[in-house]
Amino acid sequence: MQRVRLLVFNAALGVLDYRVPEGMTIEFGSIVIAPLGPRQVLGIVWEPERLNAQEVPESKLRPLLGVMPAPPLSERLRRLIEWTADYYCAPLSSVARMALGSMSALRGGGTTTEYRLTGEEPARLTPQRAAALDALQGEQGAIRELAELASVSEGVLRGMVGAGLLEAVTVDLDRPYPPARPEFAEPKLNDIQQDAADIFVEAVKAKKFAPFLLDGVTGSGKTECYFEAVAEAIRMERQVLVLLPEIALTENFLRRFEHRFGVPPVLWHSSLKSSERRRAWRAVSLGAAKVIVGARSALFLPYANLGLIVVDEAHEISFKQDDGVRYNARDVAVMRAKFEGIPIVLASATPALESMQLAEAGVYRKIDLPSRFGGATLPAINILDLREEAPERGRWIAPRLVEAMKDRLAKGEQSLLFLNRRGYAPLTLCRNCGYRFQCPNCTAWLVEHRFSKRLACHHCGHETPVPEACPDCGTGDCLVACGPGVERIADEVAEILPEARTALVTSDTMKTPAAIGEFVAMAENKAIDVIIGTQLVTKGYHFPDLTLVGVVDADLGLEGGDLRAGERTYQQIAQVAGRAGRGEKPGEVLIQTRHPEAAVIAALANGDRDAFYAAETEARRDAGAPPFGRWAAIIVSSEDQAEALSAARAIGGTAPNLPDMLVLGPAPAPLSLLRGRHRFRLLINARRSAELQKTLREWLDPLEFPRGVRVNIDIDPYSFV
Ligand code: ADP
Ligand code: ZN
Repeated sequence: MQRVRLLVFNAALGVLDYRVPEGMTIEFGSIVIAPLGPRQVLGIVWEPERLNAQEVPESKLRPLLGVMPAPPLSERLRRLIEWTADYYCAPLSSVARMALGSMSALRGGGTTTEYRLTGEEPARLTPQRAAALDALQGEQGAIRELAELASVSEGVLRGMVGAGLLEAVTVDLDRPYPPARPEFAEPKLNDIQQDAADIFVEAVKAKKFAPFLLDGVTGSGKTECYFEAVAEAIRMERQVLVLLPEIALTENFLRRFEHRFGVPPVLWHSSLKSSERRRAWRAVSLGAAKVIVGARSALFLPYANLGLIVVDEAHEISFKQDDGVRYNARDVAVMRAKFEGIPIVLASATPALESMQLAEAGVYRKIDLPSRFGGATLPAINILDLREEAPERGRWIAPRLVEAMKDRLAKGEQSLLFLNRRGYAPLTLCRNCGYRFQCPNCTAWLVEHRFSKRLACHHCGHETPVPEACPDCGTGDCLVACGPGVERIADEVAEILPEARTALVTSDTMKTPAAIGEFVAMAENKAIDVIIGTQLVTKGYHFPDLTLVGVVDADLGLEGGDLRAGERTYQQIAQVAGRAGRGEKPGEVLIQTRHPEAAVIAALANGDRDAFYAAETEARRDAGAPPFGRWAAIIVSSEDQAEALSAARAIGGTAPNLPDMLVLGPAPAPLSLLRGRHRFRLLINARRSAELQKTLREWLDPLEFPRGVRVNIDIDPYSFV
């Protein structure tokens, strides 16, 4: 090959041609370094006929500078990258970047220096050194990472190296991961589980694209079933990717995996240390890492030999990424399985309506696990009508739920209270003048967090200490908290059950895998009586002595009123209800609501899932909503409101007039100010037959906007704010 076309990592340039110097061997997919003006860029060698570029004469081509010592991206992965960019109207280089994961990994193997405690304990220590000694027990990493972990400066740690408290160790970046052992602890499956597992195992052996929807009630043993397919893939020396919706669930998964296979899986997520990232990426690309568990971003890694994909809790909306490349990892995972020619299992107790529809249409094969494992029964679900059984003034937990919690505490059983709202109170105002605390950057109230004594914006992260006096009228001691968040519910539990041991589980309290691990261990060892949590605690966990689930406010999720509000509420409550009565003792669920007549609440109470899905399906069909029609959003934003509006109007004004596409808007977004940017939205509702992406490109590509304007396209949007 003389001349090559590169996909370069620079969204503005995209595609450039180069010359291959004498003696350099490359192939399609090779990751190379190329000159760009006085600088260097990274690029991927691509099939020239698949990328448009300006034709440059042979004589003007500059030579490539080098090839990275990493395996070339496979053709299957290149096709997936193209498909994703095309489908989600995203720059190819932004999608391809997700495959590279870590710059340092591309530099190849080798060794690195890490540090760990020597075990030396001098008699006298500065407070900082003492703190570091405490924090770094059992840790090993680069100085920078350890400094962050111990919250001390790097200088302190370097001093400790000098004093012999820390020692350097040389670490081989390519040291192998201990192999998972498929025979380590094989479970005895019941007949239904065995049938499901056999089907998955056969599919792994067949090495063909085969999408499955594993629809099993909470506690039916979905994990045990797909673990058999994982075991088969390991026996065949192929790789497995397990996608989880959030990092918080990996800790729990890890424990179960280790239990079954004798070793932990290889993790991939955003909070890995850079050396871990580098090691994992290399092992993935060389085929040495067999089972990889990760969040969305693990989807685009360059697996050498992928044999199976599992998407657990496949209904979760957090698989949809809402910034950067706005893709849905569940859907792209199915495409990856297709390009790789392998089976994929979407597992859920409450499948997304879209997935159900695809199963009904025969695209996915549906495998059912209709009952809980080991004779456990599904919990009884009861409605608590807040209009008739109101909590005491200033309280949020109704007397019947209080009694039920007292009863569980007396019996030594556990309760779980679910409220999907972080912080103490969603709104703080001044009793004297009515002043409300609002985020300066967003159309949102600031949420009070009592633990950190701060008011915080949940959209942009803006934080300010809770003031002593009202910033508007100056009155002291006049702020009132309106409405409950989980912290407030935890306070209430401490008042009604002072002797109960409680755990607050939110993204504010469970920031690290270690914190989550500690919580799970305590709950399993019955060192916790009452768990109070957000959606973080609704899925994945198995605490046999948890027999009561209280839903503090079932109406909360219905307020927004977007397309999926009903479905999401159903899923969330069904999932959290699924935490109750998973062991020998039966479970009970109390749902606090002001709208017992709402279709989703009634369906939950009657356990009538089919009727709920049927009604939702009809409503979507009538509205031409997904999966029967398609949606796309165009979000226009700028720091300058007038500029954003005029750009949005320009888009609206040039909207194509097509029989199978309806363009709504522009209208101010519900979150009309976000991170200091003014936002307008257009919503496109298209028939399935419409060429949505092509139309969008032809419509938007010719338009030009001022530099400060951002136009984002969101295909199949989940967020409507
Ligand atoms: P799901 O993911 O469907 O909610 P899990 O896979 O978490 O269900 O299973 C629920 C519990 O039952 C887990 O503790 C699991 O280990 C246990 N379990 C399920 N199937 C078996 C089996 N065949 N043998 C032993 N334990 C099982
Ligand atoms: Zn904000």
